[in-house]
Amino acid sequence: MKRVLITGAAGFLGSHLSDRFIKEGYHVIGMDNLITGDMRNIEHLMPEPHFEFYHHDVTKFVHVPGDLHYVLHFASPASPIDYLKIPIQTLKVGAMGTHNLLGLALAKGARFMIASTSEVYGDPLVHPQNEEYWGHVNPIGPRGCYDEAKRYQEAITMAYHRYHSLETRIVRIFNTYGPRMRLNDGRVLPAFIGQALRGEDLTIFGDGSQTRSFCYVADLVEGIYRLLLSDYAYPVNIGNPGEITIKEFAEEIIKLTGTSQKIIYKDLPQDDPKQRQPDITLARQILGWEPQVSRQEGLQITYDYFKALPQDRLYEESG
Ligand code: NAD
Ligand code: UDP
Repeated sequence: MKRVLITGAAGFLGSHLSDRFIKEGYHVIGMDNLITGDMRNIEHLMPEPHFEFYHHDVTKFVHVPGDLHYVLHFASPASPIDYLKIPIQTLKVGAMGTHNLLGLALAKGARFMIASTSEVYGDPLVHPQNEEYWGHVNPIGPRGCYDEAKRYQEAITMAYHRYHSLETRIVRIFNTYGPRMRLNDGRVLPAFIGQALRGEDLTIFGDGSQTRSFCYVADLVEGIYRLLLSDYAYPVNIGNPGEITIKEFAEEIIKLTGTSQKIIYKDLPQDDPKQRQPDITLARQILGWEPQVSRQEGLQITYDYFKALPQDRLYEESG
């Protein structure tokens, strides 16, 4: 039985990945310090004989007994309000956390994957973004703690690949959504749905002309799974190329939820990317992957999930 370590397992993506690897017949070791995660995301896995959970901060030395075949490093605050609140931990989990896990993968002879991000492209001057683009990042702006941690993470991963011949995979993830996002994590989809469910107005930052391209979580997990099992060591974009403005997105959420609330406008955060759309030509070519779930379908599943949560969860504090 193949054994996989997934860091950030109690988070949004880590919990869905844990589900997938359990379903595929792996022994899954989930690791998380719960800084932005939630045990409720994996409580259904706890009775599984092939799921173990370690409450551990990966910026500290990481020890896992026994064999490991794969290490997937997904631990990191991922929402702008999270990483603005905890910038040092964000830099540490990208830098020291990645270094510790690379060392572990090397010692165990495991294949190593990192969750990189479209944020490595910053506020992009190339559109749509393909993997050749080096990006346009402000290293000293408020988002720098996340963007530069992820760029360092890619650099040290490639150094281990080149210097130690470690088998490595780099997935550049574009905005992904679905059940188990934290309702109050500040990302645009839980923000809008939370506001609709609480009977509040929807807050658009700036004039809403900035664009994003939203990928449903099941599609992302499929792309990650295929990339891990492929033999491709360089970065691969995984995301849904369906691009919309944030204003159009707010209107879709208003229609979906049937809320009678209106849109209000707030200041645009500094360095907020103006446009973002993945070029997925490479993923199509080498993984035969492309998204299958339409935004309409994915948003409906996600809304149904949030709607079914107990009322008090709508009012939980963020972070
Ligand atoms: P999340 O906040 O839901 O999950 C991250 C998890 O990592 C949390 O459970 C948190 O407690 C854990 N964690 C953070 N620091 C840790 C540490 N030092 N030690 C152990 N655990 C720690 O976020 P997510 O959306 O699931 O993102 C997961 C990964 O995917 C992140 O690396 C993120 O940068 C990357 N990513 C996500 C998206 C997206 O759209 N969701 C886009 C691009 C990249
Ligand atoms: N955004 C918004 N209102 C909100 C939260 C976010 O208009 O309540 C905007 C944000 O400024 C950005 C876009 O939605 O332009 C996506 O934000 P998110 O935090 O989800 O992700 P990221 O900026 O990292 O892509």
